[in-house]
Amino acid sequence: MAKIDIIGAGAAGMWQAFLLSRLGHKVTLYDPAGTPSQNCASGCAGGMLGSYCEGEPGHEEARDLGLEAMEIWKEHYPYLKLNGTLVVASPRDVADLQRFAAVTQGHTRVGVDEISALEPALEDRFRDGLFYKDEGHIEPFVALEYFIKEAAAQGTKLVAEAWEETNADVVIDCRGLAARDHLKTLRGVRGERVVVDCPGVTLSRPVRMTHPRIPFYIVPWSDHQFMIGTTAIESDDRGPATLRSVTEIMAAAYALIPALGEARIAFMDADVRPSFPDNAPKIILGETPSGRPRIYVNGLFRHGFLLSPILAKITADYIESGAKAPGVVLEDHGEW
Ligand SMILES: Cc1cc2nc3c(=O)[nH]c(=O)nc-3n(C[C@H](O)[C@H](O)[C@H](O)COP(=O)(O)OP(=O)(O)OC[C@H]3O[C@@H](n4cnc5c(N)ncnc54)[C@H](O)[C@@H]3O)c2cc1C
Repeated sequence: MAKIDIIGAGAAGMWQAFLLSRLGHKVTLYDPAGTPSQNCASGCAGGMLGSYCEGEPGHEEARDLGLEAMEIWKEHYPYLKLNGTLVVASPRDVADLQRFAAVTQGHTRVGVDEISALEPALEDRFRDGLFYKDEGHIEPFVALEYFIKEAAAQGTKLVAEAWEETNADVVIDCRGLAARDHLKTLRGVRGERVVVDCPGVTLSRPVRMTHPRIPFYIVPWSDHQFMIGTTAIESDDRGPATLRSVTEIMAAAYALIPALGEARIAFMDADVRPSFPDNAPKIILGETPSGRPRIYVNGLFRHGFLLSPILAKITADYIESGAKAPGVVLEDHGEW
């Protein structure tokens, strides 16, 4: 049994705390923004677990790791919704839908009847779509609270303060973009979102719309609340959402489901996704200032909720047996 400090209570840190305390390790989880933290990229997510939709060329590891991660979600999260993902396109953007179909797996083509049967709110306005039946979704903050409560019940100590070096055997650094003090190639990819309440609209699953300029999605949360997102801007700016971005996002949502015109805006915000230049997640074996093992888990980009369970499992395997998952667990020679 190891004494483990985990730094950061976002998606990455919560899964590490949950799995490692479940394995009997003595875990302490630190975050000055709270445990769980809402003031971070994880607090701004939509909650899609889109292992296939996220697996476009260049993101194959998101698909492969995501498929393994889904099995862990199924095993441990009772509130996981496994209703798939529906992707549609307006008739003028069908070419983009065909491209998306060609570069992703795990879908079936659906026509107007199947689309309106899956999501009656879309009525008969879309003739072409893709249904990814094995994808899922969650409500991010509900999941964060659930896993951190479970971790605490398993013995994890929660400390709402910034981490400072202790005598822990291993430190797992899940600070997101704050880890740039060591991981110099990390960058932010800004995402903005609008969350609305609309009792008149029901969706059973995330609906994504392919679009050459503004691909966007709607994720249904509980009580007819919907997360509408999102931009992907090369920027570290964590400031509030801009008028232009939310106007575009809301106009696209309203075009997808006109009844959303009556939705009440609950809030709109923005944050930045911690990302490496290749947008692939990494587990990097470094050390603390006093020379203890420090494992960085970072670069979760657009897939932080999807991938955190499998990254936690890979980290646990490394701590317990020294196993290094190829291409994911990497030595630290200062190049990151
Ligand atoms: C708009 C938007 C929508 C998204 N939608 C999805 C989605 O649908 N599905 C999906 O899978 N992913 C989604 N993502 C991506 C996902 O949110 C990120 O990949 C993920 O949140 C990154 O998690 P993290 O734990 O690595 O970092 P963060 O969530 O940024 O957490 C890092 C934490 O470290 C803490 N910290 C920093 N310094 C210290 C310190 N010294 N001591 C202790 N703690 C410290 C911070 O306070 C923070 O709470 C979305 C992102 C955005 C912005």
